[in-house]
Amino acid sequence: MRWKLADDPDDEQGSLFDVRGLVGPEQGTGRLSGLEFLAVASRTILNPMPPSSAMPFRWTINAYRGCSHACTYCFARPTHEYLGLNAGEDFDRKIVVKINAIERLRVELADPSWAHEHVAMGTNTDPYQRAEGKYRLTRGIITALAESGTPFSILTKSALVRRDLDVLAEAAAQVDVRVNFSIGTLDTDVWRATEPGTPHPRRRLEAMAEMAAAGIRTGALVAPVLPGLSDRRAQLSETVAAILEAGGTVLGSRALYLRGPSRTHFLDWLSAHDPALHARYLAAFQGRTELGRDYQSWVKQAVRRAAAEHQRNSNGTAVAIDGRPLRKAVS
Ligand code: SF4
Repeated sequence: MRWKLADDPDDEQGSLFDVRGLVGPEQGTGRLSGLEFLAVASRTILNPMPPSSAMPFRWTINAYRGCSHACTYCFARPTHEYLGLNAGEDFDRKIVVKINAIERLRVELADPSWAHEHVAMGTNTDPYQRAEGKYRLTRGIITALAESGTPFSILTKSALVRRDLDVLAEAAAQVDVRVNFSIGTLDTDVWRATEPGTPHPRRRLEAMAEMAAAGIRTGALVAPVLPGLSDRRAQLSETVAAILEAGGTVLGSRALYLRGPSRTHFLDWLSAHDPALHARYLAAFQGRTELGRDYQSWVKQAVRRAAAEHQRNSNGTAVAIDGRPLRKAVS
């Protein structure tokens, strides 16, 4: 185990977190019942991306580990195994809270070597998962980043971000701010089955509309697109149209990706949820992390065509997908 709980009197060399002087674990009550919070003091809060990363940002912040949104397909599940917890129920219920995230961030932002590069939140676990209602770390992080002149982006599946519209609007007046959502489908049955701890995606759209109305740049990634569950052309078209109508941009799309413990978790869930589809997955994936290029291209094209169609049927406002103007990319 590479870390210890906050009430453990023994610190250890080489741990990820400093546990001295902290209290925990704490059982969630009321709307947080069923959750367990493990408070730790993080040694650092700004995480550099590996030099080989293709992501368009070099720094990330994740104030929480584990995620009560409990998405069946979540790719971050293995991070709990590094902590000696399991990638299934522990990931969904035992939430590690970096209790000193705001004060630690202020120290790091004040370092003269900090170059005010873009910081991405929501790259690993959701910064607006249920724990944020109690600990308010993301809210404090937003303020600290803005006051230091550091641009940032947030990716979330939660409508809790609406709570922070005031500090986000203030931040957007000082630095480049982007609040993005992950919306794979608006299909209620699929949402309920695959993202049981999240608010309905239509509530994310309402939050998106509020961000747009406040002048905050916003949009959504159509992801993950789940083969046989949320990849019908009509489903994708409905999602794309709703994002654009809410005032967001369609940032792109991503089909399901399955690897390691996340793969096992998802396939176990699918075999109970829909045995016939599970058998089709085994045959189609054949041990690969994702379906072939034809499928990936089909999904991207379906999303782009839906955006083009919606653009033609609405006021013609130009939209961009995957960073490219739609008009040039879609015939
Ligand atoms: S919201 Fe994101 S981090 Fe949280 S469980 Fe779902 S996919 Fe994982």
